[in-house]
Amino acid sequence: MSGKGKEEKSLFEKIWTLANHRGFVFPSAEIYGGIAGIYDLGPLGAKMKNNLIQAWREFFVLRETNPPVYELDGSTILPYEALKASGHLDSFTDPTVSCLKCKKWMRADHLIEDSLDMYVEGMTLEQLNRIIRENNLGCPDCGGGLSEVTFFNLMLEVQVGPADGQTAFLRPETAQDIFLDFKRVQQSMRAKLPFGIAQIGKSYRNEISPRQGLIRVREFTQMEIEMFIHPNEIGNHPSFDKVKDIKIRILTREQQKKGETEPLETTAKESVVSKILPNPYMAYYLAKETIFYQSLGIPYDKFHFRHMMPEETPFYSGGNFDLEVELSIGRKEIIGNAYRTNYDLSNHMKKSGKDLSISVDGEKVIPEVVEPSFGVERAIYCILEHCYREDDGRGWSWFQFPPKIAPITALILPLVRREPLMEIAFKTYETLKENGLEVDYDDRGSVGKRYARADEIGIPFCVTVDYKTAEASTVTIRDRDSREQAVINKNDLIEILSKLVSGIINFEKLL
Ligand code: AMP
Repeated sequence: MSGKGKEEKSLFEKIWTLANHRGFVFPSAEIYGGIAGIYDLGPLGAKMKNNLIQAWREFFVLRETNPPVYELDGSTILPYEALKASGHLDSFTDPTVSCLKCKKWMRADHLIEDSLDMYVEGMTLEQLNRIIRENNLGCPDCGGGLSEVTFFNLMLEVQVGPADGQTAFLRPETAQDIFLDFKRVQQSMRAKLPFGIAQIGKSYRNEISPRQGLIRVREFTQMEIEMFIHPNEIGNHPSFDKVKDIKIRILTREQQKKGETEPLETTAKESVVSKILPNPYMAYYLAKETIFYQSLGIPYDKFHFRHMMPEETPFYSGGNFDLEVELSIGRKEIIGNAYRTNYDLSNHMKKSGKDLSISVDGEKVIPEVVEPSFGVERAIYCILEHCYREDDGRGWSWFQFPPKIAPITALILPLVRREPLMEIAFKTYETLKENGLEVDYDDRGSVGKRYARADEIGIPFCVTVDYKTAEASTVTIRDRDSREQAVINKNDLIEILSKLVSGIINFEKLL
């Protein structure tokens, strides 16, 4: 087939097809038709997710000393009362509308925004209904008339126990476990303010129209930290000096009002002094997130923090700043940073009747909270798109994943399918695996084809065993990005690969 007349695939389609074919992600329960917006991560996607989580834990949790950050592994099922108190039962909703003809359900705000290019965040049902009526909007699929707009709660309800059991919900964010367990963690760790509690785990949202692959799904993984701070000390972060000079890009409310899209560049310190950010805790996280997302392969000028407009922000918030990444499908939020004040703890105190305050110098204190909330699946899609490289003369497209995120660190290959090369290569592969390195073995096809296969799934290094390995114990290591090759001693392989992954050395050092 010539391919003539075929429409060029969009970047999103190319990446999504590749991610499906190469085992990064596929629909869950596919053989039964699956459920929209629910996906499984395949062998490569699962490894990438684990690497991402590991990198995040190291950077945001394990290496943090002042304030320290403790970990929690809470339940994904929460009782009705907890989510009533947190406000999710009453206001965790999206406006929906359905087609009276084809019965399709859709987000009313998305429909209006897509059809009229109009910003409707925070509008009431009456306002949304009026816009739909006045502009004669119909179903985008079949042109049918539309129902009245109603609010739809995004939580997934579960019945715990037999028929008349307790009503509960799958948690819509990991944060609530942290508030509910706050006192327990504080007491068991004898923690003093300020301190953080981090949690990594699944959250569930019954999205009305899941779309754009991993961007809007119904089951996803969050990595959240609630940082608890003495209200009198919100202006003092004990480790702020470490980040004060880091540059961050912020799209302010004033800029958004003027329709500007180019963010302002400032430093962590300057953003606090000039009151663009509400406190140094928020600035600390924005600075760290800027470093972290660059280390994942997302260029500095492709993301920024957007100060959410008042109508997008909960009434109790002291300021929300979303990290948005530029993608071929538009700007997408991948982290929500929120100054949640003491709203959650105060509410749970009121509704549960339990004292969640802590005693500081004989005084009862309800801490203030700053929260960064990271989405794993959205980050994975951003990494796939920003690390994707079209054919640059090598004859195939490839992924330039940073070594610490790449699902496989090195491919071990015998030069040809002959002994003793195959045996030496396989033994090398086994030794590397036993030492905790993510490696694979491949002896099928020409070396060139195997390099191509490795590049296509973003393997940063290929290690070739040739006749010299048998004689002089050397192997050839090929760098994916530069396609340069270096000859090294086989016995140094574990150390060299480990250093390349952790970024202690780069490939040029070996040349
Ligand atoms: P939010 O609580 O809505 O600010 O969400 C925090 C983070 O969770 C977002 O920045 C996303 O990365 C992630 N997230 C929220 N909803 C979804 C979803 N439906 N699908 C995938 N990720 C999501």
